Amino acid sequence: MSTHHQHEVVIVGAGGAGLMAALYASRGADTAVLSKLYPTRSHTGAAQGGIGAALGNIEEDRAEWHTFDTVKGSDYLGDQDAIEFMCNEAVPVVYELEQMGLPFSRTPDGRIAQRPFGGHTNNTTKKPVRRAAYAADRTGHMILQTLYQQCIKNQVNFYDEFQVLDLILDGGRAAGVVAVELATGELHTFHAKAVVFATGGHGRVWEVTSNAYAYTGDGVAIAARRGIPLEDMEFFQFHPTGIRKLGILITEGVRGEGGVLINDKGERFMEKYAPTVKDLASRDVISRSIYLEIRDGNGISGKNYVYLDARPEVINQYAALDGRTKPDGSPYEVTAEELLGKLPDIVDFCRTYLGVDPVKQPMPIQPTAHYAMGGIPTNMYGEVVIDEKNTVMPGFYAAGECACVSVHGANRLGTNSLLDIVVFGKYCGLRAAEYAKNADYGAFASDAAGDTRARLDAIRSNPGKESAADIATEMKDEMMKNVGVFRDEAGMAHAVEKIRELKRRYQDVGVQDKGKVFNTDLLNVWELGNLLDSAEVTAVAALARKESRGGHAREDYPKRDDKNWLKHSLAWLKDGEVKLGYKDVKITKYEPKERVY
Ligand SMILES: Cc1cc2nc3c(=O)[nH]c(=O)nc-3n(C[C@H](O)[C@H](O)[C@H](O)COP(=O)(O)OP(=O)(O)OC[C@H]3O[C@@H](n4cnc5c(N)ncnc54)[C@H](O)[C@@H]3O)c2cc1C
Repeated sequence: MSTHHQHEVVIVGAGGAGLMAALYASRGADTAVLSKLYPTRSHTGAAQGGIGAALGNIEEDRAEWHTFDTVKGSDYLGDQDAIEFMCNEAVPVVYELEQMGLPFSRTPDGRIAQRPFGGHTNNTTKKPVRRAAYAADRTGHMILQTLYQQCIKNQVNFYDEFQVLDLILDGGRAAGVVAVELATGELHTFHAKAVVFATGGHGRVWEVTSNAYAYTGDGVAIAARRGIPLEDMEFFQFHPTGIRKLGILITEGVRGEGGVLINDKGERFMEKYAPTVKDLASRDVISRSIYLEIRDGNGISGKNYVYLDARPEVINQYAALDGRTKPDGSPYEVTAEELLGKLPDIVDFCRTYLGVDPVKQPMPIQPTAHYAMGGIPTNMYGEVVIDEKNTVMPGFYAAGECACVSVHGANRLGTNSLLDIVVFGKYCGLRAAEYAKNADYGAFASDAAGDTRARLDAIRSNPGKESAADIATEMKDEMMKNVGVFRDEAGMAHAVEKIRELKRRYQDVGVQDKGKVFNTDLLNVWELGNLLDSAEVTAVAALARKESRGGHAREDYPKRDDKNWLKHSLAWLKDGEVKLGYKDVKITKYEPKERVY
């Protein structure tokens, strides 16, 4: 039997999106948060660089410029009404975080400090603008801690280390979830009027990734199995600067502080690919440039990596060439001490994992799988929409990286995810509580956990002809090779077949641990099933899209094709197959143009 609970609003996930939703929902409804990780271990805590908002604390900036940069960065696939809404909300939401006690870094006169980030510009001069508000290189950590404290103060109910395995629907509306309590292995059912998914991303599909081990796409896979389509899954962002082989992220803030990318010939190669903003072009552009350099034999010692150079003398040399100045108009210069103060964790990571001291040596880097632009489709209030006509599913909400609003379109700008999670987390929480106030509980069968129990039992009793570790390795290699930074027809078709073969073999995976208490063996197998579903939808949607746009770059279709492909994809998992549909992009003010950086 399973233990039964009832709360008006049930939120799955305790990262920035889940906690912001919880904070707002709990003001109007009885709210519970379920999280497979202890809340402050969520991946939001790993975010380093900053949160984007046109505060204009250091130089002139406008929400309108932020909006345009985001539309352009998205390669015109983002929905412009939602983008405008997010960029307008950015300024008040950052001050709200400040008032909650978030310890932002400060300017000498006490205002929130801001640094430049890729793709964020002064729309008049086209030069980088300082828009990223930050707390050293621990911005996400500070957001997470601040929101968690606020939730505790607001008496949100937390079910820590409860992993959600299923979404329960009553006809066409959400009615609750099924979860396993990790400490006991016991199944619990949660009956709710409104369910919010805020489960984060699925970057563990790829071999080299900046993402946490928990990024296994649980939310998207559960939704897809319950008949909800996934939007724009072919768009996955590769961040240009992961630590070589390990994938651990080196924040774009390093380039914001003046760091430059250098090839084997000692050239600052971004001058060739993005003459105006150079090392601060958008991420898709830089990741592709690095691959092209490597392909031309310009990787370091001919290998598959380049250098990110942040030695103070190098930063100062290129800042002088670029004519970069400080806010007071004097030449831009940094010292080793200043870099240590602004990027303490990065310096520490490099020393620990690489034995490289970034103030004395360049850092070896390669693109790393970083961010899911696609996910569960929602409108700008976090309500899940389930078809080409954006029909709302009552009682079901999603926010954060597992959701697709879509504000990031084909490519997300740095600092816009921390912004997305707090803005849409907030509206999701407000809407969920308002809905709960006016709705009854849906029907909830007494054996709601039956399907889940049967699936877990099937894994437990499987003789285990196949190894989960082998299947995971083959999936990650295949996706890295054929559905990575550059793609083509043959490679992606191969990937689709390979993932299907792996899904068949997955049916023969078993576990050694047959117990109940903290059975991570069993849950890893369950999570691998989610990754395989995410990988399949990604590969099928990517194969179908015959153009290059943002994070989806095809060698056989190198151009963006607005005539045929200015549309969002929707992918349904049905009877073991992926069915595709498409819906319109919302264009309000900005007609699509070619992107020039
Ligand atoms: C290394 C790194 C650095 C980054 N730096 C920046 C940056 O500087 N600026 C920026 O804007 N963005 C940055 N990003 C992106 C950004 O941090 C994330 O996209 C964002 O924090 C995601 O927040 P979230 O609330 O959606 O998910 P998360 O914070 O990951 O939270 C997901 C939650 O869901 C829970 N969960 C998942 N599955 C289940 C399940 N089955 N049952 C129960 N609970 C579940 C987890 O326990 C967790 O609490 C960075 C990302 C990484 C990986």
